[in-house]
Amino acid sequence: MHAKSIDEVPRMSLPACLKCNSEFVYQDQQLLICPECAFEWDPEEHAAENAPLTEKDANGNTLHEGDKVTLAKDLKVKGSSQVLKVGTKALIRRIVEGKDHQLDCRIDGAGEMMVTAKFVKRA
Ligand SMILES: [Zn+2]
Repeated sequence: MHAKSIDEVPRMSLPACLKCNSEFVYQDQQLLICPECAFEWDPEEHAAENAPLTEKDANGNTLHEGDKVTLAKDLKVKGSSQVLKVGTKALIRRIVEGKDHQLDCRIDGAGEMMVTAKFVKRA
């Protein structure tokens, strides 16, 4: 008689519970459910909501909130004659959705401005 062999139960790698960090989360259709605190969530929905927005700079590098950048070209401040020179330093405070002016930046010497992502370079 052969000895029986025992294998690990295959387990999909599920994330820990978002509320109590339990590792015993299981999946029921599209929902993840925590047996310990009864919290249920949809991982896809959650990922979409929490994924921070990113944009691409002039060189195609990914920009994140908090990145330091420099202007990739001279930019005129809308409604004024002020021109911000290429190379001016800025800090991305926030990234918003949009076709242009996605970056809420604090720009050296100019203050807070909305800047189009492709007009900056990651520093
Ligand atoms: Zn839990």
